[in-house]
Amino acid sequence: MNPLLEDWTTPFAMPPFDRIKEDHFKPAFEAALAEWKAEVEAVATDTAPPSFANTVEALERSGESLDKVASVFFNLSSSCSTEGLQAIEEEIAPELAKSHAEIFMDTRLFARVDAVGDDGLTDEQARVLKLYKESFVRAGARLDEAGRKRMSEVMQRLASLGAQFSKNLLADEKAFELVLETEADLEGLSGAEVSAMARAAEDRGHPGKWVVTASRSAVEPFLQSSKRRDLREAVWRGFVGRGADRPETATKDIAAETVRLRDERAKLLGFDNFAAFKLENQMAKTPEAVRGLLERVWTPAKAAAEADRARLQELIVEEGGNFEVQPWDWAYYAEILRQRDHDLDDAELKPYMQLENIIAASFDTASRLFGLSFAERDDIPRHHPDVRVWEVMRGDKHVGIFMGDYFVRPSKRSGAWMSTFRDQQAMDGEIRPIVINTCNFVQAKEGEPVMLTFEGARTLFHEFGHALHGLMSDVTYPRISGTSVARDFVELPSQLYEHWLMRPEVLGRYALHAETNEPMPQELLDRVIAAQNFNMGAATVEYLSSALVDIAMHTTDVGEDYDPQALEASVLEKIGMPAGLGMRHRSAQFGHVFAGDGYSSGYYSYMWSEVMDADAFGAFEDAGDIFDASTAERLSTAIYSAGGRQDPELAYLAFRGRAPEVEALLKRRGLLDAA
Ligand SMILES: [Zn+2]
Repeated sequence: MNPLLEDWTTPFAMPPFDRIKEDHFKPAFEAALAEWKAEVEAVATDTAPPSFANTVEALERSGESLDKVASVFFNLSSSCSTEGLQAIEEEIAPELAKSHAEIFMDTRLFARVDAVGDDGLTDEQARVLKLYKESFVRAGARLDEAGRKRMSEVMQRLASLGAQFSKNLLADEKAFELVLETEADLEGLSGAEVSAMARAAEDRGHPGKWVVTASRSAVEPFLQSSKRRDLREAVWRGFVGRGADRPETATKDIAAETVRLRDERAKLLGFDNFAAFKLENQMAKTPEAVRGLLERVWTPAKAAAEADRARLQELIVEEGGNFEVQPWDWAYYAEILRQRDHDLDDAELKPYMQLENIIAASFDTASRLFGLSFAERDDIPRHHPDVRVWEVMRGDKHVGIFMGDYFVRPSKRSGAWMSTFRDQQAMDGEIRPIVINTCNFVQAKEGEPVMLTFEGARTLFHEFGHALHGLMSDVTYPRISGTSVARDFVELPSQLYEHWLMRPEVLGRYALHAETNEPMPQELLDRVIAAQNFNMGAATVEYLSSALVDIAMHTTDVGEDYDPQALEASVLEKIGMPAGLGMRHRSAQFGHVFAGDGYSSGYYSYMWSEVMDADAFGAFEDAGDIFDASTAERLSTAIYSAGGRQDPELAYLAFRGRAPEVEALLKRRGLLDAA
């Protein structure tokens, strides 16, 4: 028997991780795919007149085994990757894409779905029906046979290109290491950074030395604190060289082919370009609306960054330097300025950011806003010894399972994300979700508390906001469960959640000194909060440049000689990228855009959502209490529990009573004066 295909009798029907072996995945995928296809075929060939129940609900019920297998597989392949899992992924990803495309291009199914009317449906059912019709049309169900065939080829090829892109990037992350040989190479680094680098050195077979790896969590602190300009440059070059520098793992051709095929896909469906296709069913609706927002913020952000650069340059001269500020200098000199302007030293802050307390703060905030409680469970299966598991309750009602997989390891892809092992739904009785946050924090020495940077603490709150969106979901149909909302709406619950961390009501209680357990002194807290927007021009420019390149890549005509890196260079020139700053993600390593379809023409979504989160937090500020009960209740009903039940514009309106205003974002980022 294959444990992936059994009914899981573990507590909370968790996947039986201890019994699942790599060899189980291939046969499980084959059996589950066949089962799904048979279930769908039964819907397609049903002779009864099409109804919501025998068509849409039947499709919603189909593929249950496949969901189980795929959710376990993709969680493992992204956080406990092996060569074996990678090989399966390369094989299965195109297979899944093909089956999915076949179903949503099936003209018999489409005819049945299309014939279902709205009469007698609940609002939620009508919404699900609309989304189904849209999925069929966007997959190509209205195309002629030749068009459908080509679409299917394109989709399969895109899926394997995405998997290849991730694989190359992971290989480069594993391959890069800067080995530091002597104490002199460590100048400026904090004790925590040094011990993390010593552990990385041990893992990689350089005991007694120190290693900087190409993960963002290792690179960013190094660039900020290393006094060694030559080493900063080497680390920066290694980081931005991922996917570009080694011919055997370069991603340029993968990206070019991806963009060409996306363009072809959009044109088959009658759109001018891929961005127009992609944005049609988003809150933004059009590339023009996206560009409008990005450009509106670009001008003040660039002005702020240019002003900051002039100050960094002065500082370099003052220190006797004779060079123009470069991307590997920016963070280092900005940190000196931040300390000077705000009298704020990271070393002074670091002892206060204990992972354990930040987790507790994220839970406590959810408790005060939404009445949730979290009980850690040691008796529940998990896929790696580092993973922690909590049962989430509201009063005496089970809400779901929350898992936290916090530490960096070589088999994990970089970044931080939320995913699920099971989504909430209530079609045939209530099914509660299993939600996981995966991060890449640096593990502490045995017996010492794990310390986060401020950025790390924000990341934790961010991903936990996504987790709540999955956990609190209260809908009937899987199609609109939890985070199944428009891409430019999905960052609202996560980014909004970050606001609570940065408040004295939360930091004051949870930022406790690792040794003395004393709360952070009020005056330090004040300085932290005052310094929040420091260097925001640069951070905004780094982000916006990536978002603008993403949109440009998917609106520009693609010829045979299409070269994403040349396009990137021309966009940067056109927008006047300030010297000394790099993009947050260059196209060579832009996993958001090329590892899958998710954020292609969609990287802008973070800022689109930020317009809303800044404006939404204002509702609590207006109420005079960041835990105001009736505002929290509206937030829960309209946003966190609502999944994709409503059009995002209406969901926001239901919470705020009006459309979001961009001024709150400019104010939050401290860019209002530069505007
Ligand atoms: Zn997010």
